[in-house]
Amino acid sequence: MVERHGECPVCLVSGPLTTEDWIPQWVRNTIIEDAPWPDQQPPRTVTWICSTCNHRLGRVFEDKAARVMRPMFTVGELVLPMKDQRLVAGWIVKTNLVRAIATDHGRKQIVAGRDNLRLWLEWMLATGNPPPNTSVRVGCFDPSVLRNGEDLPENEMDAADFGIPAPYYDAFSFSCISHLYGLLWETVIGGLASVEPLIDATKGDRRLIRLWPQDGSELTWPPDVLLPRRAHPQLCAAWKHSPDMYDSGWARPEAAVPPGAA
Ligand SMILES: [Zn+2]
Repeated sequence: MVERHGECPVCLVSGPLTTEDWIPQWVRNTIIEDAPWPDQQPPRTVTWICSTCNHRLGRVFEDKAARVMRPMFTVGELVLPMKDQRLVAGWIVKTNLVRAIATDHGRKQIVAGRDNLRLWLEWMLATGNPPPNTSVRVGCFDPSVLRNGEDLPENEMDAADFGIPAPYYDAFSFSCISHLYGLLWETVIGGLASVEPLIDATKGDRRLIRLWPQDGSELTWPPDVLLPRRAHPQLCAAWKHSPDMYDSGWARPEAAVPPGAA
């Protein structure tokens, strides 16, 4: 349903715009089935893009990734062959790019680099792959964090074990850490000088599996080491991701009141 006219932030064509929730309905349904939310719906964050771009994004990324990623959001066990690693990495990067391009979120530094982000997204739509020189790592929250409404203790992670910081966002690179229910991911796009040292330095981290670039082998999900509650701000700080580039996402609500409880 068309509700607004303007310039599409993805293709820059002016015309009718449609709403795009950066959390797609299949993710929403997966989360709600796994652990009903107090109000039955995680909050919506809507961006406005044209229906052509909306359909392209759905065809290239959304429809295929949904099949693979549903169990990843709910800490199911699965094997990820190379083709599925590519699908998941593609979904993650396009999700970050669309959100960065189409929304402001107080991220002023995005504006300067928006043309680059858009070119990367165009490249992704044409190839189905993350842009060259991209790093995508994914972690998984401990299921007790997701399904217990109780206030679990926060496990402090060892700061010495965090590895090297991600490069800051500038006009030529993009870095972001996001979490959504059972998943936490880090996306870094940049020059070789930014991404290669990061890839080398994080090879041994058993909390996150590297989806991109691929190393040629099958991966198993979830990673060996599951993430504690509030891992996301700790990792964001330790890896020196700009706070402006931190997606707070939709964790299990911390004040999870069961339906009907006072
Ligand atoms: Zn468009």
